[in-house]
Amino acid sequence: MVMLREVLTQAGNEGVAVGHFNVSDLVTLKAVFESATDENVPVVVGVSEGERQFFGLRQIVALVKSLREEYSLPIFLNADHTHSMANAIEVAKAGVDWIVFDLSILPLEENIRQTKAAVEALKSIRPEILVEGEIGDIGSGSEIHDAAPDLRKGLTTAGEAKQFVEETKVDTLAPAVGNMHGMLKSMVAGKAKKRLDIERIRQIKEQTHIFMTLHGASGTDDEDLRKAIGAGITVVHINTEVRIAWRYGMDAALSSQPKEIVPYKVLPPVVESVKAVVTPRLALFSL
Ligand SMILES: [Zn+2]
Repeated sequence: MVMLREVLTQAGNEGVAVGHFNVSDLVTLKAVFESATDENVPVVVGVSEGERQFFGLRQIVALVKSLREEYSLPIFLNADHTHSMANAIEVAKAGVDWIVFDLSILPLEENIRQTKAAVEALKSIRPEILVEGEIGDIGSGSEIHDAAPDLRKGLTTAGEAKQFVEETKVDTLAPAVGNMHGMLKSMVAGKAKKRLDIERIRQIKEQTHIFMTLHGASGTDDEDLRKAIGAGITVVHINTEVRIAWRYGMDAALSSQPKEIVPYKVLPPVVESVKAVVTPRLALFSL
């Protein structure tokens, strides 16, 4: 079975990116899995602390493992935005493939100190696990926001990234390069797009040579995403777009079948609604 690190290496060599989609339930998991199967590409599903609490940590680990084994699709599980050592150790022991250890809210030196300790502790539990560190400010909450936070002061510099990567020994880095968690109402309406700082991505990549993950990519301009991948982004996180497709799909499925009570008859259109978002994103990342 192919390892996650090999998948990232191959994506980097080919100048493509691996799609990462957050899931909270079986509908979103089925949709991401079916889209990746249709596109014949590896994929990562992510569960934040809230998402895995709802799903059940051991349950989502078992589901992803069962899909990987039965269908031979390289599908991996990431413990997204894990904010403490205790939680990171818990998910490492449960069998996730990757952990985003996110102390980006702390001053850089303290973030470095604690992330370095986490990398050492987690690799001692499972040497093959990948650990991602995060620096800069990309906001929080994969939700629909009324107004954009001012993230200009929180952009990651190439110098900070180099220091962080060298001292912590993380496997992957989540920088702040114009990306933002969640979407504005104008973005949901299709009237505005997020724009990325491509030159900053290129500089960070040149200084670190590390795999970079673009968080908060929902609502980003397609052409900017392609350029960001060309400049050194290897993984792209999409969550809010998935949640919107799930919600709108659910509303439509319920209103079009007002008398139906059988879940496996109500829910397939919701799977299709989520796939309609995930499939084109995977296709774009693989161009
Ligand atoms: Zn994120």
